[in-house]
Amino acid sequence: MGPIKTDVIVIGEGITGLCIAYWLKKRGINVTVLAKDSEVGGTMKSVQEQGFLYETGANTALETTSHFKELVSDLKLESEFIYANPEGKNRYILRDNVLHSMPLGPGSFFFTRLFSTAAKFRVMKEPFIGRAENEESIAEFVERRLGREFLDYAIDPFVAGVFAGKTEQLSVRSAFPKLYALEEKYGGLVKGMIKGAQERKQRAEKAKDRAEIFSFVSGMQTLPQAIGNSLGKVIFFNAKVTGIRNLTTERNEPSDDPDARRYLVEYLYNGKEEEIEANVVIFAIPAYDAAPIIKSLSVETANVLSSIYYSPVISVFLGVKREDVRHKLDGFGFLIPSKEKRNILGCLWNSCLFGNRAPAGMAALNVFVGGARQPELTGLNDGQIIQETLDELKSIMQFSGKPVYLNITRWQKSIPQYEIGYQRKMDMLAKFEESNQGVLLAGNYRGGISVGDCVKNAFEIAEDVSSQVLSTR
Ligand SMILES: Cc1cc2nc3c(=O)[nH]c(=O)nc-3n(C[C@H](O)[C@H](O)[C@H](O)COP(=O)(O)OP(=O)(O)OC[C@H]3O[C@@H](n4cnc5c(N)ncnc54)[C@H](O)[C@@H]3O)c2cc1C
Repeated sequence: MGPIKTDVIVIGEGITGLCIAYWLKKRGINVTVLAKDSEVGGTMKSVQEQGFLYETGANTALETTSHFKELVSDLKLESEFIYANPEGKNRYILRDNVLHSMPLGPGSFFFTRLFSTAAKFRVMKEPFIGRAENEESIAEFVERRLGREFLDYAIDPFVAGVFAGKTEQLSVRSAFPKLYALEEKYGGLVKGMIKGAQERKQRAEKAKDRAEIFSFVSGMQTLPQAIGNSLGKVIFFNAKVTGIRNLTTERNEPSDDPDARRYLVEYLYNGKEEEIEANVVIFAIPAYDAAPIIKSLSVETANVLSSIYYSPVISVFLGVKREDVRHKLDGFGFLIPSKEKRNILGCLWNSCLFGNRAPAGMAALNVFVGGARQPELTGLNDGQIIQETLDELKSIMQFSGKPVYLNITRWQKSIPQYEIGYQRKMDMLAKFEESNQGVLLAGNYRGGISVGDCVKNAFEIAEDVSSQVLSTR
């Protein structure tokens, strides 16, 4: 008996792979998902213990795409879907050991004590700044357009919160394409925002930056779990892909007919070597996991994939008595600028965002340590991490007492860093796909790291692949 045959193989059981498989199956394509883990979710994992509900990876998502609504409706998750409490819009930034509310509009920007008067005047010069000539880092772009203080106290902590990254290393074009486009298309941020708002009004669209934060009653993993359940037997768990072979070139029968090309994927299924054959193979796994497998097709592409840096992060979840925290915990949480030289990146106040994250009288907090800013801190042992975390929370949030619940999750490779020169790498991956028709590279290292970006990109890939496959039937 030869290998199993299918139309499309999706490798990876994170949100990207699951969404691709879901939309392919919905369009009548035979799809098989090879999943390394024994459960779905990848970076989206929720844990319920001792009355606390927390996430080891993604805490929330922004409703930046209508595909979330489609999934929620298809999968009958309406009663599980929850928006964050309105207080969640309130975000704090630490400056000189004081938590300042991040201004949400021009009025509060004028009155905030987070920025000096000089910094506020510098921001107002933005419309008069010209375009850049070369690729810039986020730091270079923001300092040039908005001034150093705005970079230090608004963008630097934001980048630590989103990418666990450093503004000096990330490319503005690749990491924040919408911001970059405002300068490219309209010549500046203020001009771009005004024009963009006018254009959206004409198209009756909602601004992406007004997208709502959401999760699910039982946590973020609810979404991948529901997709996984709907996929059913199509997912092979404990199936780690180890290799790929291009059967068409091996048999020396190259053809322009997409139906004629065949790939053989090798995987370890519960420890046993297995094979599966398909016309299309979609890698929806991290770049560093894809690299050794892709090497058999292209050494150059494997090198590009393994050159993508993922910052290390430690996520510390703390269940605490509410009375032990003096701060009113009225927001999303706080972020810390590099300039403040602290040992944590920031803290999310999960129980403020969603009602059921902690038992009555308790609070749920999530602290992040390390990132590209201080990768060396991720080498500390659990005891040291807890001590650093508690010391910082005592000083910043006047936390006293001891946590009643603690969990530490270590991400040696958490989030891909879209560094300077990233576009060149992405172009090389696109070239690889062109010359290896039927092999696609997907995941959060292409087209955005957020859950929303992964879902949107997955939809587009599924659309393209399904129309290709259906056209050959
Ligand atoms: C700590 C942390 C916090 C985050 N917070 C947020 C947040 O609040 N909001 C937000 O929008 N985003 C957040 N993100 C980002 C977001 O969670 C991820 O970008 C997204 O979930 C990635 O999904 P993915 O499917 O592309 O990859 P992954 O989730 O990494 O899934 C890839 C899967 O591939 C599998 N795999 C790997 N190798 C193989 C192989 N050889 N064979 C078979 N399977 C394999 C793995 O087991 C894994 O399950 C966070 C990320 C981290 C790490």
